[in-house]
Amino acid sequence: MQNVFSSPARYTQGPNAIEQLPAEMAFLGLSGPLLIVSGPTMTAKLSPEWQRILGDVGIPFRMHLFPGECTIPAIEELRCLAEQTGATTLLAAGGGKVLDTTRAASAALSRPFIAFPTVASTDSPCSAISVIYDHRGVYDTFHTFARNPDLVLVDTQIIATSPRRYFIAGMGDALSTVFEARACAKGKRENLRGGLTTIAAREIGEACYRVLMEDGRDALADLDAGRAGPSLERIVEANTLLSGIGFESAGLAAAHGIHNAMTVAEGTHQYLHGEKVAFGVLVQLMLEKQQPEEIEQVIRFCRDIGLPTTLAGVGLAADDTESLELIARAATSPGELIHNEPFPVTASQVVNALQAADTAGNQS
Ligand SMILES: [Zn+2]
Repeated sequence: MQNVFSSPARYTQGPNAIEQLPAEMAFLGLSGPLLIVSGPTMTAKLSPEWQRILGDVGIPFRMHLFPGECTIPAIEELRCLAEQTGATTLLAAGGGKVLDTTRAASAALSRPFIAFPTVASTDSPCSAISVIYDHRGVYDTFHTFARNPDLVLVDTQIIATSPRRYFIAGMGDALSTVFEARACAKGKRENLRGGLTTIAAREIGEACYRVLMEDGRDALADLDAGRAGPSLERIVEANTLLSGIGFESAGLAAAHGIHNAMTVAEGTHQYLHGEKVAFGVLVQLMLEKQQPEEIEQVIRFCRDIGLPTTLAGVGLAADDTESLELIARAATSPGELIHNEPFPVTASQVVNALQAADTAGNQS
């Protein structure tokens, strides 16, 4: 197998980066009409901005309201709309689900895709992957496309006013990168781009973890003050760029596998991707029987910034063995991410690791 590394064609981040959209599009040779997809909140907040910024330079655009879940029908509806309206470039403004839906529609049409994340809540923006859910919000599968976004444009002033819980969840998602990269490298597992990991991807994972430990706590202070300060800038880059290209080119393993499996338990649905991934990290470290110091550092970080470290923190109960067994069975189904661990993983090992993570999280 070859070593493969993949990334967006361009990543631009900074306060008021939204103003740079026309210049960035011109630089990349992208033109309108633009189809802008966003949920109700971002549509209301950003419509006047798009009108001013794009209208000034004569780039035609139209808006489409995102229905709320990245499902096959939502992707198909968007694909048809883009085709009917002759949109040459698709832009998604919002969180992971609106980005994933728009990315999938762009890929189906082979048209350029611009990701404009308004929260730093997941590792999705830079990736070439869409996570598909069914209409009940249960994880279904993920689709991998040929190309990463043509442009990822990140306005840190917008993210500085984003909801605290989403920002924290982004750090939970980013927390997993280095550990899943390590597992995949050890097992010589395939990354999400169809190759083995590179030195670049491993180093990006390490940098992601280092930035979280150094800046995570201060970034929350920046967020609370609504300012795009240096720590917030660094955490936005960790959550979005480092975690995004890190996971994709280094690989995923138990932490995301546990996340995906947890969606079978109704109680976990109200928790965010990154919150469940953070607990998944703890489960992975237990499964791998890692050093207590490493586990301790992860638990302390999660505690300090408000990420879950217990089953109760993700809507589960330690004595609800029925749900834990259901999750363990889903996690260990053939072809699931947990099998990227460098050793065979059984359902009973997963139940034990779920309970061990809960015990450690409650004790520390
Ligand atoms: Zn993730």
